[in-house]
Amino acid sequence: MSSLKDRVALITGAAGGIGRETALLFAEQGAQVLCVDIQIEAAEKTAEDINEAGGTAAALRADISVAADCEQMVAEAERQFGKLNVMFNNAGIMHSDDGTSQDTSEATWDLTMNINLKGVFLGCKYGIPALQRAGGGSIINTASFVAHLGAATPQVAYTASKGGVLALTRELAVIHARENIRVNALCPGPLRTELLMKFLDTEEKKQRRLVHIPMGRFGEAKEMAQAALFLASDASSYVTGSEFLVDGGITAAYVTPE
Ligand code: NAD
Repeated sequence: MSSLKDRVALITGAAGGIGRETALLFAEQGAQVLCVDIQIEAAEKTAEDINEAGGTAAALRADISVAADCEQMVAEAERQFGKLNVMFNNAGIMHSDDGTSQDTSEATWDLTMNINLKGVFLGCKYGIPALQRAGGGSIINTASFVAHLGAATPQVAYTASKGGVLALTRELAVIHARENIRVNALCPGPLRTELLMKFLDTEEKKQRRLVHIPMGRFGEAKEMAQAALFLASDASSYVTGSEFLVDGGITAAYVTPE
């Protein structure tokens, strides 16, 4: 089954984690993929791995917090592959100095907002016209389960940025619903990717988070890629404005099993 045959996808954060796994899966499913990241060498590696496996991909360096870079990445997808059908606004950061409102600096707040929220806005700003030119398509914005729940291990800038992604996604879904453009948010639970493992950098911190996950384990980037594939493909043709929680049950739990 090739559910993304003849589709062109742009994926931000494709150097590692969710973005890389999604790029590999989308390519396996027939999509031509533009792998975007600020870490260009690792993004190139993702594209090379796809091409070596018989798929079609290219890599581009872009900083999603910069408008000109976002404009260029969309133009590059259209130039290289002729159109854009799927836009996965996935890149994001979790700053190590992000904490309570008292101890989070203005600089940390601004940086987090610029990448996690403005970056998604800019991806949509330039991506949506390209989807319109292609006759429609799917936008997937990566939010997080933390946009649904408060946590005692604080990271207020990150949490607020992801809440913004949900609100932005909902509104864009409504605005573009009659243009054959679907806009959905992917809300991963705690994953065993570099981003979270750098934040939960001791066994004690990891165990503290695991206590809250009914499934009792961290999620895998590959599991997020499967959810992104559903949202990208026609399998989700009646799904728009949704907040797709893929979280091992963490947001469903009041008390988790021992
Ligand atoms: P990751 O750190 O493995 O990947 C994030 C990628 O984004 C990196 O390759 C990084 O270089 C890139 N990036 C960072 N800033 C960028 C910028 N300004 N421009 C372009 N690229 C940039 O992390 P991941 O876990 O794969 O995270 C992907 C998304 O999932 C993020 O939005 C993150 O907030 C979200 N998320 C992650 C978790 C988790 O537990 N890992 C949970 C919920 C949501």
